[in-house]
Amino acid sequence: MLDANLKAQLKSYLERVTQPIEIVASLDDGAKSQEMLALLKDIVSLSNQITLLDNGTDARKPSFSLNRPGSDISLRFAGIPMGHEFTSLVLALLQVGGHPSKASAEVIEQIRSLKGEFNFETYFSLSCQNCPDVVQALNLMAVLNPNIRHVAIDGALFQAEVDERKVMAVPSIYLNGVNFGQGRMGLEEILAKLDTGAVEKQAQKLNAKEAFDVLVVGGGPAGASAAIYAARKGIRTGVAAERFGGQVLDTMAIENFVSVKETEGPKLAAALEEHVKLRISEHRDRPFRLIVTGHFANA
Ligand SMILES: Cc1cc2nc3c(=O)[nH]c(=O)nc-3n(C[C@H](O)[C@H](O)[C@H](O)COP(=O)(O)OP(=O)(O)OC[C@H]3O[C@@H](n4cnc5c(N)ncnc54)[C@H](O)[C@@H]3O)c2cc1C
Repeated sequence: MLDANLKAQLKSYLERVTQPIEIVASLDDGAKSQEMLALLKDIVSLSNQITLLDNGTDARKPSFSLNRPGSDISLRFAGIPMGHEFTSLVLALLQVGGHPSKASAEVIEQIRSLKGEFNFETYFSLSCQNCPDVVQALNLMAVLNPNIRHVAIDGALFQAEVDERKVMAVPSIYLNGVNFGQGRMGLEEILAKLDTGAVEKQAQKLNAKEAFDVLVVGGGPAGASAAIYAARKGIRTGVAAERFGGQVLDTMAIENFVSVKETEGPKLAAALEEHVKLRISEHRDRPFRLIVTGHFANA
């Protein structure tokens, strides 16, 4: 199923797995089930931390869950996560296998302290560029909090559900059976929607900080540029933005951005964030701050 190159890459990623992973597949006689089984067997062959059971009884077939024996993680792929979702599969394996995520300590704590029952279902397609952000955010939440469960569903394999729920576009997210949102959404945005006190908490945190000399509103290229130059000149600078990157995050293909012939939106957004943080960190000994707040505009 996986070619030699992909296997080699995946094998090196899986070396970061520190805790056993149990994959439980729910299969039927169809060709897609066979395809899924072949993929899962490939994965198992690449790490001795991973085991596979193919006697799952989930109603969605083909599907597979990733479990950490002894813990209560509920994370499932209903579909074969190749294409744009392959990264989501790799990250899910790493995180279920104990590899820490890159989310901030604050966000991780916020996820862990969410109370209630959250059954998420996300419909994706393998060609959807906006889907992996959502799938990865919800998978991470499911890994961190046993009250959160997530199933990522390839709509092409579960057409009856798509029709019944009238899913018109992907990603389409359902929470406890009710439509939760559509389109690209990051971890912070999902959390802000779930944690009704989040905006208030953020506003309180901001209030507790010393005043900025300059507070840049918006984390797109213009905001990033303003923050870099203000910080560089020794001005106490903050950034208030829902996410770094602005509109750049709404597209994969960026062309003719001054001095950059072509790149990808998420790559450019990550470079903007890194540059802003670098300028700030160069002056750690001076009283500068960088803040990126979710839904600041609503506070
Ligand atoms: C689909 C698409 C494809 C594109 N392709 C290209 C391309 O190929 N090449 C190219 O050069 N450009 C491209 N662009 C345009 C490029 O993304 C924009 O020119 C650039 O992002 C503008 O930067 P900006 O910082 O001025 O504004 P934005 O990127 O819009 O950033 C503004 C930020 O401020 C935030 N904000 C606004 N008001 C508030 C408020 N009150 N409180 C808090 N936050 C607020 C917004 O949420 C946003 O994050 C494309 C844009 C899109 C949508």
